[in-house]
Amino acid sequence: MSALLDLPGMPELVRDWGRDLVVEAARRATELERRRLLAGEAAAADWAAAVARALDDMVRPTLQPVINASGVIIHTNLGRAPLSAGALAELERVGRGYSNLEYDLDEGARGSRHVHAERLLCDITGAEAALVANNNAAAVLLVLMGLAQGREVVISRGQLVEIGGGFRIPEVMAQSGARLVEVGTTNRTYVEDYMRASTPDTALFMYVHRSNFSLSGFVHEPGLPELAEAAHQVGARFYADVGSGALRDTAAFGLAHEPTVVECLAAGADVVSFSGDKLLGGPQAGLVVGREASVGLLRRHPLMRALRVGKLTLAALQATLLEYRSGREAGNLPVWRMIAAEPAGLRERAEEWRQALGRGEVREGRSAVGGGSLPGETLPTFVWALPAERPQELARRLRESAPPVIARVEEEALILDPRTVLPGEEDHLLAAVRAVLADAG
Ligand SMILES: *Cc1c(COP(=O)(O)O)cnc(C)c1O
Repeated sequence: MSALLDLPGMPELVRDWGRDLVVEAARRATELERRRLLAGEAAAADWAAAVARALDDMVRPTLQPVINASGVIIHTNLGRAPLSAGALAELERVGRGYSNLEYDLDEGARGSRHVHAERLLCDITGAEAALVANNNAAAVLLVLMGLAQGREVVISRGQLVEIGGGFRIPEVMAQSGARLVEVGTTNRTYVEDYMRASTPDTALFMYVHRSNFSLSGFVHEPGLPELAEAAHQVGARFYADVGSGALRDTAAFGLAHEPTVVECLAAGADVVSFSGDKLLGGPQAGLVVGREASVGLLRRHPLMRALRVGKLTLAALQATLLEYRSGREAGNLPVWRMIAAEPAGLRERAEEWRQALGRGEVREGRSAVGGGSLPGETLPTFVWALPAERPQELARRLRESAPPVIARVEEEALILDPRTVLPGEEDHLLAAVRAVLADAG
């Protein structure tokens, strides 16, 4: 190793990075070199450069921005909702120094972190009380533990869903210690089914939004007001897990109607839970709104401490909610801007891309909302299609660009959808595509 550290270029690396880090990088580079030689490849021409590459790899963050040209707006694998400029500014403002996270400025004493988002959530939805957990899965767990542990939760067989990533409602229920009582059939459930199944031990009637699939044909489900009334009649609470967290009516954008949070509350739900980073358009969080008699129990539950959010989440969430409070969500939240983007404008952008490189063609296509909302619903768009013999290979090369570009592959073409590409990302996208096409000949 000491001989390796004396090779040309190495003393400079040791000076810049320190001996320990460079020794570790040199070991990794040696290992790589050994494998290359065993594979019959040529030895590295520049040893210091190989070590510098290893160093670079060691100190580079693995979590990094990517350009989403897939046309899926709320893409769970790509971090769901991009944050608004307002939310980013708040992250910086609050994260830079100290904050009144849990400090009551009037009293000069300890306060509650819950107040920051609670006031806004109540103002926006008209709920009595609200709290914020780490994500909606945490919120579901908290509601079931806090309101139904050791008791029964009645739910329709048509709503025992798997949301994705292995999150299955029946399994979460088992973990919470609540007993699942399934009623009805996959396609048809009536309010009488819930009533017949209820006992003095019934804590909740639960409604779970079928976020990622739809049932059609010979189907029936009781309406939310009917279900809430029935729950109250038997002395139980009504809990709605709406998942996507629509605060605006998606029907206004030519999409199917998603149950809104306000609708669930108006129907008489005691508790409603939803995600912060789906249709709400904010950071990862699980939002719970409802009656103080229910939400208060959750706020004081010992598990709350384990599921609570940090100041950065609250800062970004507060800024996102303020957009709704001031009626500016449609213009300022990226998720809603992308949903509202007009096909004519998208066609213009796709056409600009095509002209910039003089390759491919502009085609009609469909974008998806994604993220456990509006299953099967798509938005008309225009895409830049690059016909290729092996489009999967082009897609792979684009993922290796800096920043990586995520495209879609359809049959015999690489597809890039302008809907989910932010304006500031276009130059990078075009440069990446240009480089990949030049390499491919
Ligand atoms: C997405 C979703 C969840 C899980 O929410 P996360 O924020 O991903 O934890 C739970 N319930 C429903 C109905 C959902 O759509």
